[in-house]
Amino acid sequence: MTQPEQRRMLATSIPGPKSLKLQQQRSSELADGLGTTLPVFIEDAGGGILVDVDGNHIIDLASGIAVTSVGASDPEVVRRVAEQAARFTHTCFLVTEYEGFVDVAAALNRLTPGSHAKKTALFTTGAEAVENAVKIARTYTGRPAIVVLDHAYHGRTLLTMSMTAKNVPYKQGFGPFAPEVHRVPAAYPFRSSSAETCADEAMARLQEVVLTQVGAANVAAIVVEPIQGEGGFIVPPAGYLRRVQEFANEHGIVLVADEIQTGLGRTGAMFACEHDGVVPDLITTAKALGGGMPLSAVTGRAEIMDAVPAGGLGGTYAGNPVACAAALGALETIESQNLVQKAQQIEATVLGRLEKLVGPGSAVGDVRGRGAMLALEFVRPGTREPAPDIARDVVARCHAEGVLVLVCGTFGNVIRLLPPLVIGADLLDDAISVLEVAIEDASCAW
Ligand code: PLP
Repeated sequence: MTQPEQRRMLATSIPGPKSLKLQQQRSSELADGLGTTLPVFIEDAGGGILVDVDGNHIIDLASGIAVTSVGASDPEVVRRVAEQAARFTHTCFLVTEYEGFVDVAAALNRLTPGSHAKKTALFTTGAEAVENAVKIARTYTGRPAIVVLDHAYHGRTLLTMSMTAKNVPYKQGFGPFAPEVHRVPAAYPFRSSSAETCADEAMARLQEVVLTQVGAANVAAIVVEPIQGEGGFIVPPAGYLRRVQEFANEHGIVLVADEIQTGLGRTGAMFACEHDGVVPDLITTAKALGGGMPLSAVTGRAEIMDAVPAGGLGGTYAGNPVACAAALGALETIESQNLVQKAQQIEATVLGRLEKLVGPGSAVGDVRGRGAMLALEFVRPGTREPAPDIARDVVARCHAEGVLVLVCGTFGNVIRLLPPLVIGADLLDDAISVLEVAIEDASCAW
């Protein structure tokens, strides 16, 4: 088991001829609704490198959208997956049980914030975890309504796309949407009239909607991403999440932290809620949890988790044994290699460089994020008008040079960086240099 050489190397243009050929086949075989960020086909990956079928070594600043925090072929994950697959691949935990499921639950009960009694239920995808958190909160409170934020992203199923804010591409044409989903403003410092008052304004609106429009006695849950992911890596001001928690507690509303993108070390804390000293009632996890295998979870206060009677939760593949083995490997690596600290180091080395890109006349309007979840928001220079075309131009330049970055944001104008936490310092340094040059070159066209 060897990892690909940890060095950026271009053997062909990107995409190369083999990827282009496969792309043609893909176009005729696959539904057009499946998009692609970078149309290259991968045949090997690990550490901070993706190797495509043309032999290009691409630096991975995406981690499969915050999944492969331990890399795409972490030895602990690979070993445990192989061992488990050789023993059995499935029984359905609802039919006959296996230890791996219980071990992953115990790990999440231990690692999530709060010293209260906790329980966990495992599922398969992030959206499924969010749906189940809502089912649990509704059963526990006996209330129907769910409160979500502007810029939220919670998934693509009917309920979770209803909870998601952005219309195109996530919702357009897919309605009618699920009822009893109520949206309130997020605290988005860069897009507020004043960064100082944006938490006050967001809190005031949250209170108004819950108390006067929906009725607190009808609200089962407030669901928040502690750092909003797809919406633009929006870091709320210090204290905002605490106030949401206090408000939820005061009114018997379940606070659900969707840590599907932020969880398990990504932001330089095991959970992003910890930065704000918040202990949510329920936490959803997925992505990094499975080390690349599909696995998700809801973890929370035992009395809330136990509200749903036996048979009310689950799924054929929920907590699949191979995915649980992968998760145990990924968690082992995250803890033994101190990847939480590694994420802090990534922030320390990258954020300072990115901050130098902001300034008068620059299209980089804001740089933000925590740990290895960092972003640049592009605007028309001298304004806050979103500039998605500039973001796309910079991304295209990075891709052509062999650095994979992603766009996100409600306005499509944010470049996000999500390197695997195990990425080597030299590789990361090279990737950020490519990004800096791409921004400088693109600036000639502004
Ligand atoms: N919640 C958050 C915060 C996410 O970032 C995502 C995916 O990006 C989801 C939920 C949905 O997860 P999945 O795509 O596994 O259904």
